Amino acid sequence: MITLLVGSNNVHKAEELRAILETQNIAQILMPSAIQGFPQEIPETGTTLEENAYIKAVTIFHTTGITCIADDTGLEVDALQGAPGVYTARYAGGNATYADNRAKLLDALKNTPPEKRTARFRTVICYHDALRVSFAEGVCEGRISEVESGSGGFGYDAVFVPDGFSTTFAEMDATAKNAISHRGRALQELSRLLREYHKHEE
Ligand code: IMP
Repeated sequence: MITLLVGSNNVHKAEELRAILETQNIAQILMPSAIQGFPQEIPETGTTLEENAYIKAVTIFHTTGITCIADDTGLEVDALQGAPGVYTARYAGGNATYADNRAKLLDALKNTPPEKRTARFRTVICYHDALRVSFAEGVCEGRISEVESGSGGFGYDAVFVPDGFSTTFAEMDATAKNAISHRGRALQELSRLLREYHKHEE
């Protein structure tokens, strides 16, 4: 099993990573807080999710020398021409809370009828080791609800209803969300890559 340094201290993400990579015995997750000299605040200066994931992974690998992954996620809302996209975390401003971002999104869509509220989460993960840089992507299609619903998860979970469901991500348990989510799918793709790369090490 390889040791994988993750690019963020976000506990929600760490739980999702552990649920997928550790339970499949693919990788042991190392959090940034455990690493002395982990780069603080890597600016997300890219204009695409791929660029931001790449910038973070390269910076972390070059600073620590440890095999790592970094990800970037965007919410693409069709009625907003793909916004907030790469600016999803900062949609309501640099210091915005998750609640501020959700409120801004619901307000931007207040005159948008249900059938035009289609959206998708997209996650790009960049993997960096001493030999390779690779990308894994996962997409989850759905729509933006008219009101917030549910208290689980984080970010935009309370306003995102995945296709095939009538509940928001925030009303689903973690296992159900991981099975269909953008990050869950990107991690499954990453698992396949890691199994291939490290098949001779078992
Ligand atoms: P990040 O690139 O993973 O930090 O994601 C950027 C932003 O997207 C976060 O600040 C959250 O607001 C939102 N986000 C990412 N993943 C999820 C998710 O699984 N559910 C809801 N919101 C998410």
